[in-house]
Amino acid sequence: AKQRGKGNWVRYADGMERSVFADAQVGGDLRRALDAGEFRLVYQPLVDLAERRLVGVEALVRWQHPERGLVSPAEFIPAAERTGLIVPLGRFVLRETCRQAAAWLAEFGPDALGKAGPNVSVRQLHDPDFVADVRAALHDSGLPADRLVLELTESAVLRGKQVSRVLQEVHAMGVRLALDDFGTGESSLSLLRAFPVALVKLDKSFVDGIELGEPGTAATTARQAVARAVVQLADALGLDTIAEGIENEEQARRLLRLGYTVGQGYHLGRPMEAAQITTLLAQQCRI
Ligand code: C2E
Ligand code: CA
Ligand code: CA
Ligand code: CA
Repeated sequence: AKQRGKGNWVRYADGMERSVFADAQVGGDLRRALDAGEFRLVYQPLVDLAERRLVGVEALVRWQHPERGLVSPAEFIPAAERTGLIVPLGRFVLRETCRQAAAWLAEFGPDALGKAGPNVSVRQLHDPDFVADVRAALHDSGLPADRLVLELTESAVLRGKQVSRVLQEVHAMGVRLALDDFGTGESSLSLLRAFPVALVKLDKSFVDGIELGEPGTAATTARQAVARAVVQLADALGLDTIAEGIENEEQARRLLRLGYTVGQGYHLGRPMEAAQITTLLAQQCRI
């Protein structure tokens, strides 16, 4: 059932159908929050697995709600997508990521931080202003296009002429496209051909438990086989890879041995405030 929380927030139990009325309410709440500046970004390190250097960041949005505290994106991104609020919210995320990445680039130089990646919802790609928004975010921040990586979740909706044209235009600007949660969708392989992807992110579900079992023996798990197949495919196609959701050292080592050079996960660095990334970059520059 639906429960009414503080601040007119409406929450759903699994399986409950959504009412238009409730979505309108949530949409209004998200709009108010955006106008009030309650959304902010945290950044999770992308780490070179051999050298353990920061080579990039993924930008992740957080909602600092006045009464509910920090709200996870899993709780509001779906509602933002349904109500269309993801378009202005995504625009904020894009602009803020570019602004912050350009500031790091200016302070620490081009070798310090490779890339910054915001997540982009398919719904944003259907917005007629998306290409102009990306261009403006780059222009206004001064961030070189090749420093920006847009993380797109593979989904059947990524097909279609309109989306494909938008992605080609963004690609033509020099912006890079990453396929997020790679291997979980139904059409991973065909998507690699369908649009100009530069990077695939191996989903956490293939990293979980990858450290169990001996490599190269009968005990080698299906996950290791998938992880190996993905990196080999990426290499053959000239794509970069990132292994997501690395939670312990043995996973990091195993993935490095399988051919992954860059990883992300709580073991390598939790999502953190921009200031903490700045500290990491400052430490790295002194080495
Ligand atoms: P994602 O894009 O797959 O992002 C990775 C999620 O996994 C993040 O959760 C991150 O905190 C979490 N994570 C990273 N390393 C580990 C680990 O080692 N173990 C575990 N258990 N989790 C790990 P977060 O920040 O809660 O974001 C959840 C999802 O919300 C994201 O999944 C993404 O799909 C979406 N999201 C976040 N920010 C945005 C945004 O600005 N725009 C859009 N459209 N979606 C966003
Ligand atoms: Ca992502
Ligand atoms: Ca992911
Ligand atoms: Ca995910």
